[in-house]
Amino acid sequence: MGNSMPVKRIAIFGSTGSIGKQALDVIASHPNRFVPEILTAQNNEDLLIMQALKFKPNIVVIGNEKKGHKVKQALATTDTKVFIGEQALEEVAAMDCYDMMLAAIVGFAGLKPTLQAVENGKAIALANKETLVVAGDYVMKKAVENKVPIIPVDSEHSAIFQCLIGETRNKIEKIILTASGGPFFGKKPNFLVNVKRDHALQHPNWDMGAKISVDSATLMNKGLEMIEAKWLFNLRPDQVQVVIHPQSILHSMVQFEDGGIKAQMGLPDMRLPIQYALAFPYRIANKFPRYDFKKPNVLSFEDPDIKTFRNLVLATQALHKGGNLPCVLNAANEIAVYAFLRNRIGFLDMTDMIEQAMEHVPYIEQPTLEEYFDSDAEARNFAASLIKL
Ligand code: NAD
Ligand code: MG
Repeated sequence: MGNSMPVKRIAIFGSTGSIGKQALDVIASHPNRFVPEILTAQNNEDLLIMQALKFKPNIVVIGNEKKGHKVKQALATTDTKVFIGEQALEEVAAMDCYDMMLAAIVGFAGLKPTLQAVENGKAIALANKETLVVAGDYVMKKAVENKVPIIPVDSEHSAIFQCLIGETRNKIEKIILTASGGPFFGKKPNFLVNVKRDHALQHPNWDMGAKISVDSATLMNKGLEMIEAKWLFNLRPDQVQVVIHPQSILHSMVQFEDGGIKAQMGLPDMRLPIQYALAFPYRIANKFPRYDFKKPNVLSFEDPDIKTFRNLVLATQALHKGGNLPCVLNAANEIAVYAFLRNRIGFLDMTDMIEQAMEHVPYIEQPTLEEYFDSDAEARNFAASLIKL
């Protein structure tokens, strides 16, 4: 029996990013299974135009209004409709012309369109982890209400999701999230204090967007992923463990009540979890490189150095305390990362900024959606005020 998967119409929110481009690679190799119906970008109008000419989507959205005219002109003779501006993302997410949204916008900006798609009853392939970090309770509640599956794209969560297939009756003892350790694995604060943008962007195993590359270097990425996992898999905070695994071959594990551990493995290639999420519940053949057990390989595991990488401690606090604290952590982190990328603050200053924002913004135990937006804005303003002029 073959897997007679129906053609899926995909909306890629963030098609010009690292995840978006790799998703289009996957789609290009399976034209009978996936149709790219909607593509969106914020600033990179040239790439969006090229993607539109190649993939002929029904709709494109360019977020930056200044670039709208150029995109409209370039696509004037095609059948692709062009929408412009931030509001258009939500408008398009509310449409009926697609089956699944690949949420691949980076940061808090991904929350509103993703929520719109959930309320619209569309399946979500979720790369934008910040959506769940900020408002996981709200988003998961809406997903249940609208019977919307949220299929993780993040490699660790895809691994856990895959390990849980067929285990619905069985209790999870804990999950073990693997972390590569990033480019500064083994380094100490006396080294990190002098680290600059270009150095932080050199990830040993994965080629990713700038924000997540810095998050990987500070280990905030793993902190965000702990919170993401809590919501995706309905876990208690004490059921989430992080282990450093520098080779990024084993993508995460689930330990069940009987002590048995299931792991999912493969080469570090984001096209694998992207394809898995787009095609779920099917697996489809591809020609991506395979991991070779015949080569001499070492797979190693160790505890993270939380004295040096304090972001993991802050994220663990946010995970345990919940409420609006993960939202505040995320907002301050976004400001800190972009300030670091512009050489405005040092590598270690990022953690101090986040810590201060977490102390400053009043704690709310059960925030409404509006209160999440307020907490986000307050944390951003406070963190920005810490950047010296
Ligand atoms: P990226 O920076 O390469 O791309 C981001 C995309 O979002 C671009 O298409 C950009 O146009 C769009 N965008 C940026 N700001 C926007 C805004 N304000 N409004 C609307 N659109 C906006 O990022 P990426 O590395 O592809 O990551 C995307 C998401 O996927 C992030 O949440 C990241 O944590 C997650 N993720 C990425 C990887 C990876 O390997 N890159 C792995 C796991 C998870
Ligand atoms: Mg990940």
